[in-house]
Amino acid sequence: MEGSLCFLGTGSSLGVPVIGCKCSTCSSVDKKDVRMRTSALLKMKEKIFLVDAGPDHREQALICGIDHLDGVIITHDHYDHVGGLDDLKVYSHNKKKLPCLLSASTYEGIKGRFPYLFSSIEENKSPFFSCQVLKSSFEKVSFEGVAMECVSFLQANTQVTGIKIGDLAYISDIKMYKEELINQLKGIKTLVISAARSQSSTMHFSFEEAIAFASRVEAKTTYLTHIGHEMSYEDLQKILPQSVFVAYDGLTISFQIT
Ligand SMILES: [Zn+2]
Ligand SMILES: [Zn+2]
Repeated sequence: MEGSLCFLGTGSSLGVPVIGCKCSTCSSVDKKDVRMRTSALLKMKEKIFLVDAGPDHREQALICGIDHLDGVIITHDHYDHVGGLDDLKVYSHNKKKLPCLLSASTYEGIKGRFPYLFSSIEENKSPFFSCQVLKSSFEKVSFEGVAMECVSFLQANTQVTGIKIGDLAYISDIKMYKEELINQLKGIKTLVISAARSQSSTMHFSFEEAIAFASRVEAKTTYLTHIGHEMSYEDLQKILPQSVFVAYDGLTISFQIT
């Protein structure tokens, strides 16, 4: 069975164009150089899941015609991934709360940021979300009837969740990881991986580090996301290996579910 992933946003935390920036990428007329904050829409087995709800979610939903969701997966609680959580209230209607898959540390983080959405007093008493909280750093779960594996890695001190569904892995905001992650991802064909710019930083993989990671997990095809404004789509694509592609907002790719 086939699933699809639509890149709703492929930009780093400031988005592209960056406010006030006059660089060539930020001034580009190429639509592929407009990068909203990183988020994706997964469709499989008649289910639609959102991965992260950044501050651009409303615009992304209107552009892509999203009218309902079967669940949201939150990778971590940084603003560029959760700034649009309030907008998700529209998806919990007819008294059905929106299922939300996330780690225990992300759950704690968003309860602090959005106490009115995620009650900080009683567990799982959110009026809008029904939370499925992961119990360990690697877990095989069924989320609304869809089997997936949740993996963990670090961005500075923040624990981030990645997902493996069928032969696809979605790994955003990775900087440090344990060796076991490589084995956990073995067997995938398509890798979506974050890479912010050419230089390495304390928070993100460089393009080179992302390419090295893709080859370690033996991905057949790799898509870079969470990209800053340093390079345009065209200039970046030119310097990448044949099997590595620059993702852009609106791009849809397919994968196989076993
Ligand atoms: Zn981010
Ligand atoms: Zn710029």
